[in-house]
Amino acid sequence: MALKYCQGPDCHTYTTQDRLKGTKPNKTYQTRRRSYLHFGEFCDNRCYNDWFSKYGTMAVDHFGRLTEVKHLTEQNAWVKDYDWRSPYGSDDRNYHYVNKITKEQRPLTESQYNDSTYTLNTGE
Ligand SMILES: [Zn+2]
Repeated sequence: MALKYCQGPDCHTYTTQDRLKGTKPNKTYQTRRRSYLHFGEFCDNRCYNDWFSKYGTMAVDHFGRLTEVKHLTEQNAWVKDYDWRSPYGSDDRNYHYVNKITKEQRPLTESQYNDSTYTLNTGE
């Protein structure tokens, strides 16, 4: 798997041994490269927090700032859930939708459960 650069703006300023790269006398502390990164972008939570501190407000402004209160109603209160169909033995899951307002339950297939676009919610 290809290595990706941590997007933390200050990653190279943290003087850990694993960031010290190159050959003497040209060793420098460098941005970490990883095959796995937190949220696909950051080597650790510090770098994630650094990024958000620097760019979070710009990102919210770019993607859309919430300007009014949101309401949880019967129309948008459906959440996917599962429980174990049998308490012992098989890993047979019983998938269902639960409405957090009305407590109504409706059955759900495994593929519907795993389909992130499938929803009973009709509003935000
Ligand atoms: Zn980093």
